[in-house]
Amino acid sequence: MSLTAEILSVGTEILLGNITNTNATFLSQELSVLGINVYHHTVVGDNPQRLAEAMDIALGRNDLIITTGGLGPTYDDLTKQTVGRALGLEMELHEDILADLKARWERRGTVMPPNNEQQAWFPKGCTIIPNDWGTAPSCAIEKEGKTVIMLPGPPYEMKNIWNRYVAPMMQAWQDSVLVSRYCRVVNIGESALEERLSALLKNSLNPTIAPYAGGGETVLRVTAKAATREEAYALTVPAVEHIARECGDDLYAVDKDSMEQVVCELLRELGLRVATCESITGGGLARRITDVPGASDVFECGLVTYSDRMKYRLADVSLETLRAHSAISLEAAIEMAEGTLKQSGADLAVSVTGVAGPETLPQGEPGTVYAAVAGPLGTRAAKLTLLRSNDRDRNRINATGKALDYLRFYLLDLQRSKRG
Ligand code: ATP
Ligand code: MG
Repeated sequence: MSLTAEILSVGTEILLGNITNTNATFLSQELSVLGINVYHHTVVGDNPQRLAEAMDIALGRNDLIITTGGLGPTYDDLTKQTVGRALGLEMELHEDILADLKARWERRGTVMPPNNEQQAWFPKGCTIIPNDWGTAPSCAIEKEGKTVIMLPGPPYEMKNIWNRYVAPMMQAWQDSVLVSRYCRVVNIGESALEERLSALLKNSLNPTIAPYAGGGETVLRVTAKAATREEAYALTVPAVEHIARECGDDLYAVDKDSMEQVVCELLRELGLRVATCESITGGGLARRITDVPGASDVFECGLVTYSDRMKYRLADVSLETLRAHSAISLEAAIEMAEGTLKQSGADLAVSVTGVAGPETLPQGEPGTVYAAVAGPLGTRAAKLTLLRSNDRDRNRINATGKALDYLRFYLLDLQRSKRG
């Protein structure tokens, strides 16, 4: 039987809307990878009575409760005491932790304020989980078949503690191994993809397939459970193959992190160097390509030509084209790519130009974007399809992703033509 879990986030600032509850998002994703069902998210302020109520409810309905926040040294940090009380446990002082805390302060050349002693008190019988990233140690308590794990609020500390100590502990509880693989799909919207894969999504129990969309792509997480890692991996293979068949080249990566990584790998395999010429994306394309370690082997240079003058001077775009079609046109995109190829001496060049917004221009609405690639297969250009939006940031991010994808398709064709 699989465990059920509740995430109890403690902090008035979450209720006030001052911060987003990113801890709950992170923990939910992590627990689902472990095959633990998260049934409830609860948020409660720094108030002992309401925290106690929330704790009683959580203990009544789930096997595992993970709290975040309220482990600090101040008066409003009440999680440990309140959980201890809910479980009928007294608090006890851990002298070793107290000594540790005092030593930390001494190393900083100061004396520990008396308040911080609170961080060395824990409910009786709990297991201490070290905090190598902050002052407040975390802890886990098991009582009458229920487990409560208390983690600090700051996401950086919480995630590190989770990754180093808590996730391995939970993995050890499971009698099986989970393997998750990530299939990244572009150009097919989330609901269209769900429809296309509906038989697979409905009928899959092992592996389970979970789609989630964001950042202009849909990720399908394929998770299988088995006695060994190899067996679990083998269970994922038919599902991943099914997704690959359905999505074709729109499945841009399996078990890889990003489109730029895939583009750099293709360039490397083909032995080619690319140059970029950007208008709407302001260097975003060059930035994403150069984010990949080793990009200097495959990236020649990037131009950010915003004015017509620089499109003409640096990228060789003709004055006739700029006059007749403007800088936001298919014609300009073609000349930007071809001019950059010639000027840079790279093996291929990619260009992107368009309307970011929020204002509509005579050339089009925000989100009107043209891209071109010039290289060994000749020049290709297209008007790219972006989801309609007046949001400047979103349009620029999406234009960058789409232009990168346009380059990827060109490279895939090159790869095929070379393989014959
Ligand atoms: P501290 O020792 O810093 O007081 P703590 O364990 O007591 O740690 P809180 O005081 O509840 O944690 O939160 C500290 C900070 O951590 C908050 O101001 C906020 O920036 C961040 N934080 C807390 N809870 C969350 C959450 N659920 N999601 C994202 N950030 C959070
Ligand atoms: Mg605090």
